[in-house]
Amino acid sequence: MQKLKPCPLCGTESEAIQPGSGGGWNVGCGVETSTADGSDSCGLVLFGGDRAEVVERWNTRVEVES
Ligand SMILES: [Zn+2]
Repeated sequence: MQKLKPCPLCGTESEAIQPGSGGGWNVGCGVETSTADGSDSCGLVLFGGDRAEVVERWNTRVEVES
């Protein structure tokens, strides 16, 4: 299982979640915490069909950014 890199925009720890059963995966900046108190995440989210695919795209974005 691939490890997620931090958000390419703000550096906040990112998370992969599956919002619905059997649905696609989202990788986002502070996905779990953003609804709690807003924290300091920028809210960037990538949507994908499965976890491996969306994680790979997320990590690629980080490499381009850095
Ligand atoms: Zn961010």
